[in-house]
Amino acid sequence: NLPKIAWIGLGIMGSPMAENLIKAGYPVTGFTLEADKLERLAAAGGTAAGSIAEAVADADIVVTMVPASPQVEAIAYGPDGILENARPHTLLIDMSSITPQTSIDLAQAAGAKGIRVLDAPVSGGEAGALEAVLSIMVGGDQADFDAARPLLETLGKTIVRCGPHGSGQTVKAANQLIVAVNIQACAEAVVFLEKSGVDLTAALDVLAGGLAGSTVLARKKDNFTTRDFRPGFRIDLHHKDMGIVTDAARTVGAALPVGTVVAGLVASLRAQGDGGLDHSALLRGVERLSGH
Ligand code: NAD
Repeated sequence: NLPKIAWIGLGIMGSPMAENLIKAGYPVTGFTLEADKLERLAAAGGTAAGSIAEAVADADIVVTMVPASPQVEAIAYGPDGILENARPHTLLIDMSSITPQTSIDLAQAAGAKGIRVLDAPVSGGEAGALEAVLSIMVGGDQADFDAARPLLETLGKTIVRCGPHGSGQTVKAANQLIVAVNIQACAEAVVFLEKSGVDLTAALDVLAGGLAGSTVLARKKDNFTTRDFRPGFRIDLHHKDMGIVTDAARTVGAALPVGTVVAGLVASLRAQGDGGLDHSALLRGVERLSGH
């Protein structure tokens, strides 16, 4: 008998991930803020709950996939929330990208109620969620990681325990630093190539096969050539993640000389009203700086 899952947060990532669990035979009860997303879950074979309390009441495992630390805190600590309403021994797997300290504090508060916690943020984007090939970086106790592994293997391909509570989030913060800098480098190359009059599709095809190739370039190539900036991964969320990594790096005394500049470029895009676009829209920022 597969464990009963409560899934909180059915957005761009949460919906396809929850559907992969349903396809694998898990009973999934979900709650999220948009009614259409709850209908989508029910249509896929899940159960739509009317509240977090209702979703988690008889769950064995609760998964959360929401935007940021404030939402995780509201969902966990609120009167309708997980800590008040889940049974002791429930395993809470938070897959949102949040500050490492929020994960550490949550593990402690939940532990006092007998609820076990893992931080398990993901990388691979919407495509990775749909295809169940996410990289999942996990922080928490080894025994809880072992218990979560079958479920995580239904959602992803590369699943690694990075250390104690919070360490999954620290690794995810590093992931977001690398991705942002990589997108910015690609965006600068795109503007340079176009201004030089080189065919962009041909250039990106050959670049993708050499040392400049990356998952970012392969996945975002079409966004760059067609200027399709529908998310994907919203600039607003990457802005949140650049805040997480720059704060965490300052705390430990790690210099991010390029990362802080790219964080500023992400913030600038957001300030210009592009927060709802995909992060490949960093290209727009470079175009503006180049006089487009
Ligand atoms: P999203 O905005 O599409 O979805 C967030 C969902 O959380 C929404 O459905 C919303 O209803 C729900 N939610 C928010 N507050 C809630 C509350 N109080 N109670 C119940 N539900 C609530 O975001 P997303 O793109 O799916 O991202 C989710 C998380 O995954 C973020 O932390 C993000 O940084 C991370 N992430 C996103 C991607 C990506 O490519 N989109 C990739 C890797 C990681």
